[in-house]
Amino acid sequence: MFDVMIIGGGPSGLSAALVLGRARRSVLVIDNEQARNFVVQSSHGFLTRDAISPKELRHLAKKELKKYKTVQFCQGTARNLQQSHSNFLVEVGNLEFSAKKVIVASGLKEQLPNINGLKDLYGKYVFSCPYCDGWEFRDQKLTVIGNGNKLIEYVKLIRQWSKEIVLLTGGPRTFTSKDYEELTHRRIPIMEEEISGFSRERNDLQITLSNGVVITCDAAFLLKTNAIQHLILPEQLQVKLKKNGSYETSLHGQTIQKGLYIIGDAAKRFTGLVGAASEGYEAGVHVNKELVDEEW
Ligand SMILES: Cc1cc2nc3c(=O)[nH]c(=O)nc-3n(C[C@H](O)[C@H](O)[C@H](O)COP(=O)(O)OP(=O)(O)OC[C@H]3O[C@@H](n4cnc5c(N)ncnc54)[C@H](O)[C@@H]3O)c2cc1C
Repeated sequence: MFDVMIIGGGPSGLSAALVLGRARRSVLVIDNEQARNFVVQSSHGFLTRDAISPKELRHLAKKELKKYKTVQFCQGTARNLQQSHSNFLVEVGNLEFSAKKVIVASGLKEQLPNINGLKDLYGKYVFSCPYCDGWEFRDQKLTVIGNGNKLIEYVKLIRQWSKEIVLLTGGPRTFTSKDYEELTHRRIPIMEEEISGFSRERNDLQITLSNGVVITCDAAFLLKTNAIQHLILPEQLQVKLKKNGSYETSLHGQTIQKGLYIIGDAAKRFTGLVGAASEGYEAGVHVNKELVDEEW
């Protein structure tokens, strides 16, 4: 029996493992290496590690964790998380593990629209987070892809990195006429045709519309990637998904189920690397405190 099982070995899970391992808790980190950011070559904004590859960041974190004999790793997919009395059980392949507390740090996975070429170019020339990838395309030709009432705020944001923007709605626009006026007032071209394909030609990203028009740009920013949970918790644990697809949690990632915590993107949709690491630290401290109190 472990003190704590952590499902997910991304920045949130590994950071929780570090603080708990150092607090002399026996920790098992279960991970299946399918992180959403593995599509990018380099990730940005993590202090002291700007432009590091996502895999290298994990490699360095694991190297540090290996110093702590209190932390163990299991490669595989955690399934059937259950509560049994006051403990938790989980299956990985044909193994079963138990722990007093569980931290779910399993992140999200994208559900990109099914458009030719998009999957291959996502993370290379098509992105969603300008804080992560905007700098590399500053003052270049950008295409923003999106629709609906959240679009205007996204366009405003992307313009911080480049004013040379074309907007593709992928179908009839669904935002207000006020938003439309604001966009056209800033001379942002808006095209409402469906998008039929993405390709890379020479040094350009090309986006083909259903009427045959081809938009040539340096990169595109996609408002919605329709990310969903990697790990769907069994109903018996009674942790609800919110409308936006993240799990309901309160302070420090605590859920309605005592001893079960959810942190990182699984709880907040997009914490960023440093935010995820911070959540892991905070949850780790809280889980240790809960155990300390129970053992007193
Ligand atoms: C394309 C892209 C680029 C990004 N670039 C940046 C950037 O430059 N800077 C930045 O700060 N943020 C960036 N982000 C955001 C960042 O990747 C996430 O916010 C961060 O990784 C969240 O950390 P996490 O630990 O919550 O989840 P993740 O890093 O997603 O880790 C979750 C882990 O859990 C594992 N897992 C899931 N289910 C199971 C299961 N059942 N059993 C075992 N393991 C499981 C997954 O395989 C994964 O390894 C980017 C995101 C994307 C999609």
